[in-house]
Amino acid sequence: MKKIWFVLAAAGVVAAPALHAQTFPTDDPVIRQMWQEGMEDRSQAYALAQVLMDSIGPRLTGSPGYVRSAEWLESVYASWGIDVERHEYGTWRGWERGITHVDLIQPRIRTLNATMMAWSPGSGGVVEAEVVALPTLESEADFEAWLPQVAGRAVAISFPEPTCRAPESWEENATPASYQRMQEERQAAEQSWTRSLLVAAGIERGSARGAEATVAQRLEEAGAVAIFRALWSDGWGADKIFDASTEEIATIQLSCEDYGLVTRLAMNDQSPRVRIDAEAEFTGTVPAFNVIATMPGTELPDEYVLLGAHLDSWDGASGATDNGTGTIMMLEAARLLKTTYPNPRRTIIIGHWDAEERGLIGSNNFQADHPDVMAGLQSAFNQDNGTWRVDYIRMMGFADAGAHFARWFSAIPPEITQHIELDIPGLPESGGSDHMSFLCVPAPSFRFQSNYPDYRQYTWHTGIDTFDKIVFDDLRNNATLAAMAAYLASEDPERVSRETVVLPTTPPEGPMRVSRRTQNFPSIGQWPQCRTPRRSYNN
Ligand SMILES: [Zn+2]
Repeated sequence: MKKIWFVLAAAGVVAAPALHAQTFPTDDPVIRQMWQEGMEDRSQAYALAQVLMDSIGPRLTGSPGYVRSAEWLESVYASWGIDVERHEYGTWRGWERGITHVDLIQPRIRTLNATMMAWSPGSGGVVEAEVVALPTLESEADFEAWLPQVAGRAVAISFPEPTCRAPESWEENATPASYQRMQEERQAAEQSWTRSLLVAAGIERGSARGAEATVAQRLEEAGAVAIFRALWSDGWGADKIFDASTEEIATIQLSCEDYGLVTRLAMNDQSPRVRIDAEAEFTGTVPAFNVIATMPGTELPDEYVLLGAHLDSWDGASGATDNGTGTIMMLEAARLLKTTYPNPRRTIIIGHWDAEERGLIGSNNFQADHPDVMAGLQSAFNQDNGTWRVDYIRMMGFADAGAHFARWFSAIPPEITQHIELDIPGLPESGGSDHMSFLCVPAPSFRFQSNYPDYRQYTWHTGIDTFDKIVFDDLRNNATLAAMAAYLASEDPERVSRETVVLPTTPPEGPMRVSRRTQNFPSIGQWPQCRTPRRSYNN
């Protein structure tokens, strides 16, 4: 296994105008035009991102927001003269978010930071209710004895965090002893809470989040008027916001500390009451589809370069870094390609995938429905996990991919490539984003990876994944990289081979065990297997 930092030799470097710091390794006019179009004043990244994140907002699968984003993409591609169509593969459960408004009204007034979870029913008008918290439960009998109390009440079922102060703040400012004590006490309290959740869910073991989904349904059946949940993302103001499991009553996510506040009041017999007004509408069964743009190849139309990023998002914020930035990266790359390389040698496809957040569903259906594209795939480049510049690309175990990338990168300005570590030959990942839908074929498919830990802590699936988090210098860099990589892969005289490395049969030791960049286990023993694609909410 070899890992290299890709650094270009200075030889052959062409002097650049003093105004801009770019360094062109060759005199390829397309690369120069792509840089000027993508990195300088004509970049459209900011304008496109502002419309998608601010005006359209989140793009939950099956929601009107997803449809609006697709209509917008179609109009943008049409205005650029790029063919675009919907790849309809099935159906999903339609749902439209309305307002969520929750106030603590006793023992004091506070407007709470509250967001209905995706696919939650509304509250059916304004309701007032006392809040009770899940008690410590040792047995099913404890649960049955407590259950009647939830009728007419709002029930807090998630673990209340003792501190919503970011861990980096504790680490920096607390004494080591108090930081350690806090961690130990927190861990013990969380274990106890999870035990109660498992008891209430009637299961031996499982995740807290899974147990909460079951418990919410049992409380709904017992007459609760609303469910409160929380899922802190271990950072200042960051909470993950996923989907509800209730069918009739509202499931509402509170921010880490607003949840902590109402739960502490309930646990200390201080009788918290809330007023809830939450609106939502189920819109029936709706079409599920990807948005696919195509620039036909002139010499090798049956060979393909695929740029991809999922268009859908979770619904707690704007989906700015998951995956608005990937969407804009590939959209802007399409504009750069159309402007500077309008007649590609191989066919270039830009895939805006649906339902990645529900299990790579859109891309998996595209793979299943387009064996021709899979057979002729030169390379797929996918981006998920948002902002910051691309800094890591794993060759996924394709034996000669490293040689192709090295050739392509030798033509790209080092201002872009110097930040990127190529992991050669790497190992196939075992999970992750839409590149897995093609990797399993196996077809050469790569993830353009940006900084992961910061993303995971603060913006991944959180209520603060918003426009302000986007770093536009990096988004322009990434769009220009995608355009250049697509151009170079399209022009490459050779196909990227499907020959793969022999996979280890035991987990590798040390840093290869889990990529420090993706926190993703490599596949051991067996190449990742393709799954039968899901085509509806119920199958
Ligand atoms: Zn994503």
